[in-house]
Amino acid sequence: MKPSRPKPHMTEEMKPFWDAVSEKRFKLMRCQKCQEWYWPAAYCRKHENEPFFGNMRWEEASGKGKVFAFNIHRRAFNPAFDTPYVYALIELDEGPMFGANIVNVPVEDVSINMPVEVTFETYDDIILPQFAPAVPRKTG
Ligand SMILES: [Zn+2]
Repeated sequence: MKPSRPKPHMTEEMKPFWDAVSEKRFKLMRCQKCQEWYWPAAYCRKHENEPFFGNMRWEEASGKGKVFAFNIHRRAFNPAFDTPYVYALIELDEGPMFGANIVNVPVEDVSINMPVEVTFETYDDIILPQFAPAVPRKTG
């Protein structure tokens, strides 16, 4: 049996994000004053903020984006990961960058600017947001 994957680091501010993920929903933090989106949890950088994230809310996001940068990992730092795998920085349609694995595609087919969308993968006892190609790929 494979060892468990490391668990994401969960802070109090990020708990609503992980609670949503556990229901296979993808949320980002959104400023209620200017509608700007943030991930991870942050105060809005465009103006003064109310204390305790008062002007920030977790809202359902599109879960869509494109590959901004990626690495192909041929050796896993942790034996729980199957190799090769792709770790990518995804530029979400809402603006924030999100780091995740790219799944459901051969690693050599991943490219910069490839449209991707969130997919929820269950590993052991945890659900993680990962990304997969957003458009059906032609075969043959
Ligand atoms: Zn704002």
